Amino acid sequence: MVKVCDLSPLDESLQYISGVGPVLMSILSAAGFNTVRDLLFYLPRRYGEIDDSQTLSELTPGREMRVKGILTKKSTIRPPRRRPFYEITLEDSGGKLTARWFNFRPYIFDAVNIGEELILLGKVDYLRGKYQMMHPEIITLKGGGAALMAGNTHTFYSDVAGISQIKLRKLILKVLPLASQISEPLPEEIRLRRRMPTLSESVISLHAPPEGSDIVALNERRSPWQQRLIYDEFLALQLGLFLRKASHQGSGAPVIKSAKTVEELAKELFPFALTPDQAGAAREILGDLGQNKPMNRLLHGDVGSGKTAVALLAAAAAMDAGYQAAIMAPTELLALQHYTKAKEAFGELAPIELLIGNQKAAYKLRVQSAAATGRAALLIGTHALIQEGVSFKKLGLAIIDEQHRFGVMQRAALLQKAEAASGYTPHLLVMTATPIPRTMAMTVYGDLDVSTIAHLPPGRLPVITKVLREKERQSMYREIAEALARGEQAYMIYPLVEESESELLAGIKDATTMAEELANGPFKYFKVGLMHGRLTPEEKNAVMEAFHRHEIDLLISTTVVEVGIDVPSATILVVEHAERFGLSQLHQLRGRVGRGQSGGTCLLMIGGHAGDEAFERLMVLKEESSGFKVAEADLAIRGPGDIIGTRQSGMPSLKYGDLLRDGNILKAARQDAKNLLLKDPELKNYPGLKELVKNLWQDHLYLATVS
Ligand code: ADP
Ligand code: MG
Repeated sequence: MVKVCDLSPLDESLQYISGVGPVLMSILSAAGFNTVRDLLFYLPRRYGEIDDSQTLSELTPGREMRVKGILTKKSTIRPPRRRPFYEITLEDSGGKLTARWFNFRPYIFDAVNIGEELILLGKVDYLRGKYQMMHPEIITLKGGGAALMAGNTHTFYSDVAGISQIKLRKLILKVLPLASQISEPLPEEIRLRRRMPTLSESVISLHAPPEGSDIVALNERRSPWQQRLIYDEFLALQLGLFLRKASHQGSGAPVIKSAKTVEELAKELFPFALTPDQAGAAREILGDLGQNKPMNRLLHGDVGSGKTAVALLAAAAAMDAGYQAAIMAPTELLALQHYTKAKEAFGELAPIELLIGNQKAAYKLRVQSAAATGRAALLIGTHALIQEGVSFKKLGLAIIDEQHRFGVMQRAALLQKAEAASGYTPHLLVMTATPIPRTMAMTVYGDLDVSTIAHLPPGRLPVITKVLREKERQSMYREIAEALARGEQAYMIYPLVEESESELLAGIKDATTMAEELANGPFKYFKVGLMHGRLTPEEKNAVMEAFHRHEIDLLISTTVVEVGIDVPSATILVVEHAERFGLSQLHQLRGRVGRGQSGGTCLLMIGGHAGDEAFERLMVLKEESSGFKVAEADLAIRGPGDIIGTRQSGMPSLKYGDLLRDGNILKAARQDAKNLLLKDPELKNYPGLKELVKNLWQDHLYLATVS
């Protein structure tokens, strides 16, 4: 939405529109409609094709129709012990139709009289030999109602509390002529090249589709007018992302040139050779580190693809050049694991420190001072890294693992800590396994460069996934026991730590109770361990190390092991009450097994009450082993909002566009945004576009200078 100047009639308060009294005005403004513009950009939710060629004797059941007839009966029916309902009968020369309203009395009910000609608008049902409509809209022909009937397309708006559909439509049609004054934000060159209608034309056509409009296209948001609005939104989105990226690159970064090649570094650090994908990603990262502008890179790779090795290699390059590096992970367990791995890679004596919550105060102080003085070359930790008291002497590289678990502000905080001390921006590497479709990645991570690890390390066997029901519990226990007897290890994941008092969670199994039960029952000949978020860091560490050293065969746990945990000899993972988890989350959990050479099995146990729908949803995991495919299915089920926490990534919310559905428009907008900024990096000559960006992003853009 473009604001040109304050005098535009579009910015006029709705109270000046004739017919809008103080009462209606207060209802409108409570619903967020204050100006003419607000109303004009409230677009129909759905379109109906109206066929009023037929008489009441031959209607088509199941169709949305507009029928005309004489009101012959009107009554309030009061069945015993039930709520009253309202009924009218409409007749024409050939037939009859009854309309009913339950639970509410249409506001127009009292105003219509027997003998009056009416129009009803709704879906036709055919019940017991009679045509019926439930809750149709009534349009009276007196008082200009017929004017609302032009065209064969009927618009349906989302309900606004306190205003009827008819009133809303009337009001919108009243201000619609002002839509011709909506100014055009797009440069003419782009609009014509993309063959798009003007913004003003689009708004008008969406409220009053011209004769012969394609209703299906309208309902699927494929009309040229809707595509235009989606394009504008995406263009603003992409422009904002590019502008944000540019603002981040304003400050200089340390030039980190590694004296060693990727292969040499890998050889020093790991017992294995990097895969070609890992080596490629590492080279891209070292390339960025050598520049004096801060790296802003995403390392993307499915669960178990070996991102940690690449991160440690990048850290080694920074440390070799005399800079500090930091790795921030979302859970204590994962931070602990990274710490252990780093010690393995760099040697016990390397200046590596761990900082997590709940550490003893004295220990923390020692680590903080090591970071501040530069004695610690690599700092590994959780959110504790960005807490007060932590500072770095010379942070050259900040690495954030499982970045989708963090908010933009937390990422920014880590960088700011370094900036405050050194005056430059450190290089940033973020890692995630949460794979999202390509077009979405371009946007959500639009201000990041992306390195991808597409293939898993060699020798991995696929993880077999099965969806089980309660009756298969005993055979599941047997399968686990057999694997444990072969010397393998297993996880069993529960949604709760302890038995819940809450009624909502009645019947849901918990890790603590089950650990007890399983250790004394089916797995009494094996060593059973318990892990959950309420343990202290020392306890967690002890359990995890015991599992690593194979002093525990079966680990009963909550989802604290969901991300990152790497115990290659674990081959079976069970998730109980799997229906309570999202697909992407289950995929992450499944990634805990199949990390070694002996493959893995993931058993998804459905709780007793879950229906077939849950079963169907989980079957996606049985069929798809790729995180990308799982993410797509998850997206289709839950919508994009949930997936990568678009909110967290500092993205504005979209009103018209859908990153998944409208991938092609997104691509076009991205291209155009890029070209526009090449020509005019600050959009000086495009005030309309600037306004578009500002309206979409609001505070996001300026709050979050880093992504
Ligand atoms: P993720 O990408 O999920 O973070 P990790 O970094 O935890 O994956 O690696 C998964 C496992 O693969 C680890 O046990 C790691 O040691 C192993 N690994 C990583 N790279 C290689 C490689 N090039 N060859 C063999 N094993 C590897
Ligand atoms: Mg990892």
